[in-house]
Amino acid sequence: MKIICIGHNYIKHIKELNHDIPQDPVFFMKPDSSLLLSNKDFYIPGFSNEIHHEVELVIKISRLGKSIESRFAHRYYDEIGLGIDFTARDLQRQLVAKGLPWEKAKAFDSAAVLGKFIPKEELGDVGNIDFSLQKNQTVVQQGNSNEMIFSFDAIIAHLSQFVTLKIGDLIYTGTPSGVGTVHIDDRLEGYIGNKKMFDFLVK
Ligand code: ZN
Repeated sequence: MKIICIGHNYIKHIKELNHDIPQDPVFFMKPDSSLLLSNKDFYIPGFSNEIHHEVELVIKISRLGKSIESRFAHRYYDEIGLGIDFTARDLQRQLVAKGLPWEKAKAFDSAAVLGKFIPKEELGDVGNIDFSLQKNQTVVQQGNSNEMIFSFDAIIAHLSQFVTLKIGDLIYTGTPSGVGTVHIDDRLEGYIGNKKMFDFLVK
């Protein structure tokens, strides 16, 4: 199982980080050891003073595929979930400045929070999914899949030109604006519509 993350997929988030709008999806990977499941506590690692939350819709691949055409891409996932792409922003900034890969800032243990999944049929139009993140009961991030630069199908079509997608692979599809630092004792709750998808504490 692999975890693929899409960067820079929501215009307002690109602006808040002062990046350019990409021509093609930007992607990077996290190892399976980065998964944090079952609402377990997240422990802030000692190597960063600036761990940012990035709430993201997550696609779970349900079929083996390579070089998938965009018009068939919807056949390759049945469920959509919600997760957090935790990012050590201070480390990422240093790496980017040196032109180095992002792994140290993105692939660390527990950096991929994963909540529940909802079958696609229950969601209706996957191009119009509302989701949000609450920190200590205040909404800090809010997005809709209709704001994505690259749709789920466009992402699958692009990725699968480079990487074979396998059953159970997870694709984090990018974060909307509102990313921010987490602190000890924060409570993070993620929602798709008004359905709670995860709820955990920062330690
Ligand atoms: Zn992200």
